[in-house]
Amino acid sequence: MSGPRIFCIANQKGGVGKTTTTVNLAAGLAAVGQRVLVVDLDPQGNATTGSGLAKRELPASVYDVLLGTHGIAAARQRSPHAGYDVLGANRELAGAEVELVEIDRRERRLRDALREVAPDYDFVLVDCPPSLSLLTLNGLCAAHGVIVPMQCEYFALEGLSDLVNTIRQVHANLNRDLEIIGLLRVMFDPRITLQQQVSEQLQAHFGDKVFATVIPRNVRLAEAPSYGQPGVVFDPASKGAQAYVAFAAEMVRRLGRPAAAGPEGAPPARAGNTAAA
Ligand code: ADP
Ligand code: MG
Repeated sequence: MSGPRIFCIANQKGGVGKTTTTVNLAAGLAAVGQRVLVVDLDPQGNATTGSGLAKRELPASVYDVLLGTHGIAAARQRSPHAGYDVLGANRELAGAEVELVEIDRRERRLRDALREVAPDYDFVLVDCPPSLSLLTLNGLCAAHGVIVPMQCEYFALEGLSDLVNTIRQVHANLNRDLEIIGLLRVMFDPRITLQQQVSEQLQAHFGDKVFATVIPRNVRLAEAPSYGQPGVVFDPASKGAQAYVAFAAEMVRRLGRPAAAGPEGAPPARAGNTAAA
């Protein structure tokens, strides 16, 4: 296997923790020596600002890369504190949806662009917008797998079916590599009985596709973006940060990649559940 593992963090609902998961998983992976690129595919640019970059002052953005006016190597930037690179986004990206329709290989623009920097990374994490749009399609066409953050709410399972269907279609028609890597329970509050029940339902339905790590609701994760840092960097001792560090370790274990600085006496990898394409 060569080149980076490329994962989309996707869920067509907004506010479910996609961006928080992207930047904290990236920081967690970087902390154990993995080389990571975050691609911000959301015109809101929250992964960009949450990584400490000013989205209005980007020399070039993912928009320019998708439209082919800038190369990705020149457009990426280093997050000042978080230890990974970012291909940033801002409002401009909203226009790409329309402009891309005219362009050749419109759903493969990101996939094609990433080839240029593939040797530089172990992981590429794509923060998707809250839609199943052409932008998200670019993410899904470029990726080996999808990580789905979700809150354990009553309608969680129902909302999942559109995403699962889209992933199936992309797998069948555009990208044979694509699979769901796993569902990540986020903003979890164990005191709420309903959340416990939905969590159990998820495990019953999806088995090993539900990550063992659970991300608790934790205010430090919500405060960190205003300091331009992932929670993992902003307050490493917080419960939320520690959960994302554990999640990064779980990802590395699942993929069979040795962490450069194995940090913990982690439970054994769950056999037969690697993400091999
Ligand atoms: P999305 O990218 O799916 O729209 P975000 O990651 O931006 O979702 O999260 C939505 C809001 O919830 C943000 O204000 C974020 O700071 C907050 N948030 C995300 N995860 C947590 C968590 N585990 N605990 C507390 N707040 C969280
Ligand atoms: Mg977001």
